[in-house]
Amino acid sequence: MAPFDAVFVGSGINSLAGAALLAKDGWRVCVLERNDWLGGAIKTVDDLTAPGFRHEVFSSWHPLWVGSPAYAELKGDLDRLGLEYLNTDVPTATAFPDGSSVHLSTDGAANVAELGAAWQRQFDEFMAAADVAFGVLGTELWSSQGFALGRKAYKQFGRRGLVEFAGHSLLSARDWLTDTFDDERAHGLLAPWVLHTGLGPDQAMSGFMTQVIACALQLGGMPVPKGGGASLVEGLATIVRDAGGELRTEADVERIVVSDGAATAVRIVGGETVAATRAVLACVTPTQLYGRLLGDNDAPANVRERARRFRYGRGEMQIHIAMNELPRWRGDERLARTPLLHLTPGLDGVSRAVNEADRGLLPAEATIALGQPMAVDPSRAPDGSWVIWVQLQELPPRPKGDAAGELDTGAGWTEELREAYADRIVERIGRHIENLESATVARVVLSPADMEAANPNWVGGDIYAGSCALDQNLLFRPTPASPGHATPVERLWHIGASTHPGPGLGAGSGYLAAKQLTKPPLVRRLLAKVPGLP
Ligand SMILES: Cc1cc2nc3c(=O)[nH]c(=O)nc-3n(C[C@H](O)[C@H](O)[C@H](O)COP(=O)(O)OP(=O)(O)OC[C@H]3O[C@@H](n4cnc5c(N)ncnc54)[C@H](O)[C@@H]3O)c2cc1C
Repeated sequence: MAPFDAVFVGSGINSLAGAALLAKDGWRVCVLERNDWLGGAIKTVDDLTAPGFRHEVFSSWHPLWVGSPAYAELKGDLDRLGLEYLNTDVPTATAFPDGSSVHLSTDGAANVAELGAAWQRQFDEFMAAADVAFGVLGTELWSSQGFALGRKAYKQFGRRGLVEFAGHSLLSARDWLTDTFDDERAHGLLAPWVLHTGLGPDQAMSGFMTQVIACALQLGGMPVPKGGGASLVEGLATIVRDAGGELRTEADVERIVVSDGAATAVRIVGGETVAATRAVLACVTPTQLYGRLLGDNDAPANVRERARRFRYGRGEMQIHIAMNELPRWRGDERLARTPLLHLTPGLDGVSRAVNEADRGLLPAEATIALGQPMAVDPSRAPDGSWVIWVQLQELPPRPKGDAAGELDTGAGWTEELREAYADRIVERIGRHIENLESATVARVVLSPADMEAANPNWVGGDIYAGSCALDQNLLFRPTPASPGHATPVERLWHIGASTHPGPGLGAGSGYLAAKQLTKPPLVRRLLAKVPGLP
């Protein structure tokens, strides 16, 4: 087989977007995926629960992708290939145990009416520094661009202002929320969103992430691809194929071949070798990269040791429900129109559940992220029926007990424990949706152990491929010994959720690596600045 310019290990969004960007730049690329589907956390399945019902098995919501620079560059091609995004003006809400609820809209005035003047104040405050905030999340920090961002922030804020900005960014969500809003409903609306950043509401920097999300939801709503995420995957794969590239499933890469300090090929289980003349990009955890794919002599000992100590976060459970009726929500009529809402007692409820999970306990009252994709895209099931996507992000990878004192966790995540815990959650949802039980056709549950089996990046069921605590985030992701995307091995790039800017469908790491690979040489960049030269 003729060698490829670049070979990607794994077909997550970072690989697919990176591969499409390189393909558009004239590279011939190959994407190798061990599973029998492309897309990693993007997996759209018909009939998971029952015939006619289409489910997003894992990720479902695309605001990060739609707001990403990768999408901005690829949108023209993806539009031509038929990818279409649908959106809503009521992206999120929280329903409390007493049946009351609080709602967020894409209309700023409606949010002020719902949450008071404090909403506008925090929005304006964040937006004044939004370019720096989003810059931190979209820049290769250990690079000249990172340095330029620092200089720009210094110019914009001044020395004292910059220190204040940095200090403010370290606030926990609890401190930021209680400082900003007197209304506890606002705390209950935003605190659960911290979980979607891989943090808990009492962790450093979770206040900053809450602000990012609060403003992004108002600005961007909750876009989903018509027909499901598979259409995005297919669009990106088509861009790669049209440029002469290849994407292969059931190809488990077991070794990155290193010659004279540079990555030159990968070897697939079974012995086949695929050569890469310009780059190998691995969309994997540091654990796998330095513990499996590279040999002991390929990377410095301190880098391998740091990778070995890379920490993983809490486990996750997915519950998929097919209903043969529309849901009859108790309370506010907007609940039935909201694509992604949370059921929780509020900030302290989220905090308690996180703490229980961190101590190895099944939370008594886990925060329920309840998705209704059909509130945005009615094509997912027949008229008059409904699909529910549930995510629980506060579960112990290896349970030591049950905070409610009801379930036996002695044998770990068995099928029995998984279904019993899902029963607890479904019973709580049933207090809000009065016809949930009677209209349920089928349900499918995935435990943290099932998640880990689906993707080696989700160690212990951690869907964010590594704890996002400050010491493993931003400048330090994936590890302080090898931050960013270049690695100690020449021509080997580390991408994926374990690397900066972390998890999510924004494809940030694939984009940043592709940009570095396609950057014109220094001489050409300097010449481009000379006036009068073509
Ligand atoms: C259940 C769930 C729900 C989520 N919901 C959302 C959401 O709604 N919105 C959002 O923005 N984000 C969401 N996220 C987060 C987001 O989906 C992920 O962070 C992101 O998709 C990760 O992409 P990735 O590029 O790191 O690769 P992954 O999606 O992790 O894919 C990596 C791929 O590499 C393959 N692989 C690994 N090792 C090898 C090897 N040696 N050889 C070959 N192949 C290999 C794996 O099989 C996998 O398919 C969710 C994640 C999960 C799991």
